[in-house]
Amino acid sequence: AIALKDVHLSLGEKAGRVHILKGIDLTIDHGTAVGLVGPSGSGKSTLLMVMAGLERADSGLVQVVGSELGPLSEDELARFRGSNVGIIFQSFHLVPNMTALENVAVPLELSGDRAAFDKAKLELEAVGLGHRLHHYPAQMSGGEQQRVAVARALVVDPKILIADEPTGNLDENTGSQIVDLMFKAQKKRGTTLVLVTHDPALARKCDRMIRVRSGEIEEDVSDVRSAGAEASA
Ligand code: ATP
Ligand code: MG
Repeated sequence: AIALKDVHLSLGEKAGRVHILKGIDLTIDHGTAVGLVGPSGSGKSTLLMVMAGLERADSGLVQVVGSELGPLSEDELARFRGSNVGIIFQSFHLVPNMTALENVAVPLELSGDRAAFDKAKLELEAVGLGHRLHHYPAQMSGGEQQRVAVARALVVDPKILIADEPTGNLDENTGSQIVDLMFKAQKKRGTTLVLVTHDPALARKCDRMIRVRSGEIEEDVSDVRSAGAEASA
């Protein structure tokens, strides 16, 4: 589960410092798919980064899969992320001078897993890229690159999958294939999924929809597929 209590976060230096998260209270049960929506600049990506342990809250409690993140050292935080969190970005974020296989093996190699390449190969096959193992990102389509990113996020068998507009750079058809992959993996493995999206149809596929506005939670709908569906459009 993920539990945030009265989380505040400001970013930027001195005079340019901006109060972005303004007292976020939120509990997400394990295995839930949450769609995070809201206007541009409302703090969605920042909130994701706090949940992923990539950004520290200034105050409040951040508890993710049983660990309180606040007191962790940088090393401990990195280890926590490595074994618990998979992240997928809009712009893929693959390492350009590494093949698909090497990219997917990275998170496992960081934890010293000797079977890194074998597991990475299986994960790439699972996303339908068994024929692209030795291709570099520049030699692959956007959809293929995002599949590699999905494989890389899933390869550590994370408890939490975080995705920041994962279909934002893809055409509709390719995007929906990526979404299907993510939801299939989420259901099969019982992973918690937190997904930022501007696409109401995608938010409706989630178990729960949370709307953020100006760094606060404006709306939290659990029955997304019926009641919240019209409101999310
Ligand atoms: P979008 O839908 O456009 O991706 P978002 O909801 O993800 O928006 P965030 O990226 O979380 O929004 O940003 C929230 C606010 O924080 C924005 O106003 C942004 O300009 C500001 N912000 C983000 N990072 C920093 C930073 N490092 N320094 C100062 N301000 C920042
Ligand atoms: Mg964002």
